[in-house]
Order: sequence, then C-alpha cells, then structure tokens
Amino acid sequence: MPFTANRYFKTHPLILEGAQGMYYQARDGRQILDGIAGLWCCNAGHCHPRITAAIQAQAARLDYATAFQLGHPAAFELATRLADLAPAGLEHVFFTNSGSEAVDTALKIARAFHQHNGEPQRTRLVGRERGYHGVGFGGISVGGIENNRRLFGPLLPQVEHLPSTHLPARNAFSRGQPAHGVELADELEVMVAAGEPDTIAAVIVEPVAGSAGVLVPPPGYLQRLREICDRHGILLIFDEVITGLGRLGAATAADYFGVRPDLMTLAKALTNGTVPMGAVLVDAHIHNRFMQGPEQAIELFHGYTYSGHPLAAAAALASLEVYADEGLFARARELAPIFEEALHQLAGAPHVIDVRNLGLMGAIELKPRPDAPTQRAQAVFREAFEQGILIRTTADTIALTPPLIISEAQIGQIVETLQGILQRLD
Ligand code: PLP
Repeated sequence: MPFTANRYFKTHPLILEGAQGMYYQARDGRQILDGIAGLWCCNAGHCHPRITAAIQAQAARLDYATAFQLGHPAAFELATRLADLAPAGLEHVFFTNSGSEAVDTALKIARAFHQHNGEPQRTRLVGRERGYHGVGFGGISVGGIENNRRLFGPLLPQVEHLPSTHLPARNAFSRGQPAHGVELADELEVMVAAGEPDTIAAVIVEPVAGSAGVLVPPPGYLQRLREICDRHGILLIFDEVITGLGRLGAATAADYFGVRPDLMTLAKALTNGTVPMGAVLVDAHIHNRFMQGPEQAIELFHGYTYSGHPLAAAAALASLEVYADEGLFARARELAPIFEEALHQLAGAPHVIDVRNLGLMGAIELKPRPDAPTQRAQAVFREAFEQGILIRTTADTIALTPPLIISEAQIGQIVETLQGILQRLD
C-alpha cells in the first residue's frame, strides 16, 4: 500500500465501502465525515450523480481510444474548457493520468522548449525544500521531502532547491498568508549568479505547499519568483495538483495570487477524484516553439497509453460543470474565513504549536512526542476515525482540506472533535 505502514495496517485495517456527499461509509456501517476530500480530490463531494452518470454514459459509448495519432471529442472539449478556465496564455493542454506524470511531463516540456529555443544549455531545474511533486524520478528530484528521496538515489542531476517558506519562529499561528519571508525568493537570484549564465531551465513550486503540511507563502513571494524568472529567461511551473480547481476559492492559485506561470499542472479535483487524470497547461509561446519543422513530424516524443482517456475526460467535463453550476469556487471563498476562524480555535489546545490556513486548506501542527515523531498525530488520526471524522496527517501535522460543499456545522464538528481528542491525548 502506498505511503502506509503495511504491517500495522494488516492488523488494524481501515476499510471504506461506500461514499456519498460529505461522507464515507466504513465497513462497520459508520458514516465518516470526510475532512480531506478523499486526498485533496473530491471537491464536489462523493458520488456526485452528474459525474457518475457522465462516466457511466461514456463507458457505454466509447470505452477507450488511444490519443496516439487519433482523437475523441471529450478530450478536445476538455482541453478547451481548461484553457478557458486557466489564466490567459495557458492555452494548450497535455493529458496524463496523475499528478506525478503531470510533473514529469512539465519538466520535460520545459527542457525541450529551451532546446527548441536555441538555449540547449538550460537544463538545471529548481524545486523547493518541503515541496511535493509526486513520486516519479523527476518529481522526487525537484521535490524536497527527504524520506521520499533517501533510498532512491542517484536522482536527476542539476537540481537545486530553494528554501522552504515555512518560518515557524516568525510566522506561527498566522491567519492566511504569513507576514515574513518574502526575501526567501531572492535565493533564486543567488542560484542564478552561482552557476554558469543562462543554465536554469525551470523553477517548480506548489503555490501553497500541500503535502508537507500546508505551507503558505508570504505576500509578494510568488510575484518575486515570477520577476526573477522573467529577468533570467527561466520558466515558472506552478504545481497546482492541490491548489487548482477551487481549493483556494478561485479557479487556480495563479488566479488567487495574481501570478501567471508558464506551465501549470493539475490532477486530483480535475475529475473530482473519480477517474485518474492529470494535465499540464502550457503557455502558447512554449507550445508554438514545438510546432516547427515538417508538418508530418512528431513534435513531442512523450505520452501515455491512457492520455486523455475517454472516461477521465467525461468525468472531468462533468466535474467542471458541477463546479460551475454549483458555484463551488465561490463557496470555498465564502467559507474560507469561517474555516480560518474555526481552525484557529485550536491554537490554545494541548500540543498545538502552529495553525496555518488559506482558502479551504488548513493545518494544525502538534509538538512531536519525544523520541516518537509522527506518533502523536497518528494517534489523533485513529481516534478521529473512531469518532467519525477523516483527517490526514503528515509527520506531526494534521491537514484539513474538506470538499468545497462542507457546511459550517460540519466544519464546527471537525474542530470540536479534534478539540476533544487533543484535550485527552498524551
Ligand atoms: N503534485 C502535488 C502538488 C501533489 O500534491 C501531488 C499529490 O499529492 C502530486 C503532485 C502527485 O500526484 P499523484 O499522486 O496523482 O501522482
């Protein structure tokens, strides 16, 4: 099982057998309130009838079609919808089956672009400490989570990492964007100056780091990264696998922060979690550099058997319609201050050393038990599940990222349950 203590699981299995709306159904029949949208995926809640129906209809109409030299309508329609939804300029889409594949695809497109653009020496890639970009070799190379890299070296060469924006000593218990740390973006200038001129291909960051525990950038940080990239001909990639499609109360984090990347990855909520799918959105100026040479020549030697899979495309189209028709991005924006207020009620609870939030992303960081890091948070996870609430923990941080359909009362229920658990926990 992925990222799981397999032996412990065998003796303590947690099995989900059904889902509807805000709830999972556990094997023993209990309803479990989903505080994490599955895994930052199910923004419209579970088993949405319109999405289910679209998948069923597509399965009966066209089960599979290769995207190599052939096409089908849903994939093109989806590409058009995504281009409409994305910041201006991100007009072209490449479909993958996961966030990890989207990241590796984006990194490859970035390097190939510089080849086409007469700068083949631009091969260095810059990620960020505590960044999570999936588990492909590209993703773990630019990613900055030590446990995900430790046993798999050597990884991609010519990769460097910006410092994380997480500054607990200065920013703990910030509401929304923290005040300090904009200068951390300047490290990119230092990297530029330290290497051979014009050798950095791309910088990849999550606008808000999710998997490492909801690390929110300070105001101006992403703008500054954009400015430095522009000054030095570096492509900026936003990994929006978590932040894309409503999590911050806007279509994308690029919109939310007013910073336009050159490439953007999406996955997870793209299909509301129902059918695996990822996507890379590419700026027209990058795409157009590939469209040269003989018309019959393949422009990008890259792709997946299931790129643009009909079921995934149908699920994504239906998901985007549901997000729009139910006004879910606006709903997330309206709920964000309520979510913030509720989360920060945990600031004084035992063991809590930080509370962070932006949009409908939140984290409560606990002081680790001496000599037993992660155990305290895992105990909260198990106890919360017992009490009918699904949370996620990463190290000693509790992450909360509910479906965008969550009610105020349900937010209150999650926070009250956690408050009770923390009061009794050792
Ligand atoms: N990028 C980010 C920012 C993610 O949060 C994730 C998954 O959590 C990924 C990439 C990888 O996505 P997947 O697990 O679909 O490969």
